Amino acid sequence: MYSAQIEAQLKKLGIKIGDIISVQKGGQAFEGMLMPRPDAGDTGSLVIKLSTGYNAGVRMEGSKIKKIKDGGASFEKKQAQKNSYFAGEKGSHITLLSTGGTIASRIDYKTGAVDPQIDAKSLVGAYPSLKEFEPIKCNSIFSILSEDMSPLHWEKIAQAIKNEFDGGAQGVVIAHGTDTMGYTAAALSYSLENLPAPVVLTGAQRSPDRASSDAPQNIFCSMAAARANFAQVCICMHASTSDTLNHLHIGTRVRKAHTSGRWAFKSIGTRPLGEVNPKGGEVKLNSSAIARDMKRKINLKNKFSSNVHLAWIYPGINSKTVEKWAEYDGVVLAGTGLGHAPIDAANPNSKASILPALRSLVDSGIPVAMAPQCGEGRVIHGTYSTGTYLANAGIIGNGADWLAETCYVKMCWALGQEKDAKKIKEIMLRPMHGDITSFSLIGEE
Ligand code: GLU
Repeated sequence: MYSAQIEAQLKKLGIKIGDIISVQKGGQAFEGMLMPRPDAGDTGSLVIKLSTGYNAGVRMEGSKIKKIKDGGASFEKKQAQKNSYFAGEKGSHITLLSTGGTIASRIDYKTGAVDPQIDAKSLVGAYPSLKEFEPIKCNSIFSILSEDMSPLHWEKIAQAIKNEFDGGAQGVVIAHGTDTMGYTAAALSYSLENLPAPVVLTGAQRSPDRASSDAPQNIFCSMAAARANFAQVCICMHASTSDTLNHLHIGTRVRKAHTSGRWAFKSIGTRPLGEVNPKGGEVKLNSSAIARDMKRKINLKNKFSSNVHLAWIYPGINSKTVEKWAEYDGVVLAGTGLGHAPIDAANPNSKASILPALRSLVDSGIPVAMAPQCGEGRVIHGTYSTGTYLANAGIIGNGADWLAETCYVKMCWALGQEKDAKKIKEIMLRPMHGDITSFSLIGEE
């Protein structure tokens, strides 16, 4: 993947990897096939295969690009064929899609650091225990660290999953970096309406070339989950330090809550959707699981805004900061306590208050939502006058028990579906895919 900015520009010009393009820069013209960015390449430079066979990298700033000839569709088809791997009958298969992250990384001996370089096919080939899940189809969508994911990547992953179900997959596993896996899980939950079968995201905290890697167990348990009788987006990761159990966490209620532990993933404000025993792969689901039904066809809603701001409220935040958010299409606040911000409730129009600045964002048509920065519990805008002022200013979220990152993803998604502020508000507050729970499991008021 190129940088989000280049990807957006290519999309606008209708240019795909594999197309023949011309790039003009500083009086020089280059013509050739647009190549995928090499894993370790500069995200801000286009790579073009020239007619000489050499690749040229051209920095994008100040370049003019034009499409000369289509070639993208056949290139994608060739790539897909190269990546596919079946052992058995198509139509009864599970698909493993790889996107990068530690699970698809190995040590790069040039730098001593780990790098995402393993494709989906090699991942499956490395673990003989996966044989029992054959037929398995493999495909690598991209090979990046998940901190580099953007809403454009979510759109592509959602499309790839729909293609897999349309092609007969009985379940889909996504290998993904752990850092932003929760965001992608929420994005896929919203994008894939009417899901027929499980979509299971998994990752690893230790790369597969280390003896202590959690990758083999996480992939094994995810494959078992992908065959199970449910039809939701979830994350499947170690439940504890030991290798005795994996948890399945619902896609809208899951957070990476530890930087390095293999038990890092936690369901927040709800119980895990289920668990998988790594010895034998037995899957136990809780009663809220939605049963699979292969007759369902996915209604793909994978448009996201890339112009939403997620802001952490902190002591000392001021109006000058808030005023800068006017350039966004939507704003999500992770507020203190019950969903608060410094608005000087005794004198809400004072200099110290950010209320007037928040109010003018809302009045200009920018939806602003509030989620709690506390790990658990709901936004309550009625207990303190701070909350009442925020609610009266039109801040969305009173009563919602939701995760700030899910709220952010939902705002990106809502703005991808609708432009009308009233409808955005209605979408944001509509409970979907378990994102807004009707009770808080811990610390219920
Ligand atoms: N930061 C990288 C990522 O999220 C590696 C971490 C991981 O996969 O565990 O992709």
